[in-house]
Amino acid sequence: MSNIAIIGAGAAGMMSAILIAEQGHAVTVFEQNERIGKKLYITGKGRCNFTNACTRDTFLSSVIDNPRFLYSAYDTMDSGAVIEFFESRGMRTKIERGNRAFPASDKSADVIDTLRDAMKRAGVKVRLGCRVLSILAEEGKVTGLVVKSSDQEAERSFQFDRVIVATGGLSYPSTGATGDGLRFARDLGLRVTPTSPSLVPIECAERYCAEMQGLSLRNVELHIKSGKKEVFREFGEMMFTHFGVTGPLILTASARIGQLIGKKELRTCIDLKPAVSEEKLDDRLLRLFAENRNKDVQNVVSELYPAKMLPVILALSGIEPGKKVHDITKGDRMTIIQMTKRFPLTFERLRGYNEAVITKGGVSVREIDPGSMESKKTAGLHFIGEVLDVDALTGGFNLQIAWCTAAQCARAIGPNT
Ligand SMILES: Cc1cc2nc3c(=O)[nH]c(=O)nc-3n(C[C@H](O)[C@H](O)[C@H](O)COP(=O)(O)OP(=O)(O)OC[C@H]3O[C@@H](n4cnc5c(N)ncnc54)[C@H](O)[C@@H]3O)c2cc1C
Repeated sequence: MSNIAIIGAGAAGMMSAILIAEQGHAVTVFEQNERIGKKLYITGKGRCNFTNACTRDTFLSSVIDNPRFLYSAYDTMDSGAVIEFFESRGMRTKIERGNRAFPASDKSADVIDTLRDAMKRAGVKVRLGCRVLSILAEEGKVTGLVVKSSDQEAERSFQFDRVIVATGGLSYPSTGATGDGLRFARDLGLRVTPTSPSLVPIECAERYCAEMQGLSLRNVELHIKSGKKEVFREFGEMMFTHFGVTGPLILTASARIGQLIGKKELRTCIDLKPAVSEEKLDDRLLRLFAENRNKDVQNVVSELYPAKMLPVILALSGIEPGKKVHDITKGDRMTIIQMTKRFPLTFERLRGYNEAVITKGGVSVREIDPGSMESKKTAGLHFIGEVLDVDALTGGFNLQIAWCTAAQCARAIGPNT
């Protein structure tokens, strides 16, 4: 029987603890918080979108960095197997729009309770309030770790045959995301790729974002160009805030092109009416103007834009809101069309880790065997979950990464013989 330590009682740590202990090994989980699954609790706005019931191809195309690294892990525990894992342990589940899987109760606590019960039944020891300070290794092999517990003054070292690092990333530090796992990796000579917040709101230069704070736009198309190259084009929903923009479309953009912000000159615009061509929009304006020749322009075009946006569109078009429609020139009309089809935004910077759903970057996958999640340099040392340089879009894919990398590690360790 191997004596195995797992650092972190998050999604990846708990899943690996259960699967490894069920194979007959002695498993101890060290968690620095006073409770397990602190981040899991806030996932999916408290509902925990725990996986995505999609095909393998959709999963892999939703992984932004290093999807190939996950081929085999996904086959070991795909989304169907994750749903089965929870269902077979008594948690009912449901699938919503976009194949997002949730506990039927809409309570993330059910996911945590299921994992807690399964750990208990499998005989996993959970040490809460215990922060791992460092990992011990000799001659290329793990020997144990050093722990500081919240109720004891002194640090203590423990011997283990294997150590699994499931410490997560850097986002939402209040949940315990300290970046310790990245430090452990560096201390043991593993390469860590540069980290940055991802799936995160974006700050914009334009003051008018604040003027439209709280305004949500649906079915708009975001276009981003770097030089002549289009680097992002997607439909979706977004919202203005006091600092810039947020919402699903913006979070996706942050994950896809966040690295370019502040480094490359980006031209960003929103097509507010992607289903209507410029010609059709012009026809509509001409019709509206013909029917309302003596009215103020602001009262006539108001049906095309949300109330908070109308003054911004007119100001950007250089048109006085009180200008009479019969004084509107063709040039004015063309500018209104341009502002509607190419509403300008300037992305300045990503918001910080406090607001980021995930961390981009992490322990380089080149250092890790994808068949076992074990370090190629240090035997008995595994990395699973968000601490790795793999990240995905929203939709349950990031937790799927945590579950399947945990399962891959457990499968490679194998049964106690
Ligand atoms: C607000 C929010 C909402 C999200 N919603 C979703 C969602 O609905 N669906 C989805 O798929 N993903 C979602 N995510 C992302 C998802 O939560 C993470 O990708 C996932 O939790 C990563 O799992 P993990 O086990 O690798 O790390 P974590 O869940 O972060 O767990 C790591 C654990 O390790 C502990 N730890 C760290 N260092 C030490 C140490 N030195 N000693 C002891 N313990 C340590 C931490 O305290 C923590 O408990 C969301 C993230 C956030 C922030």
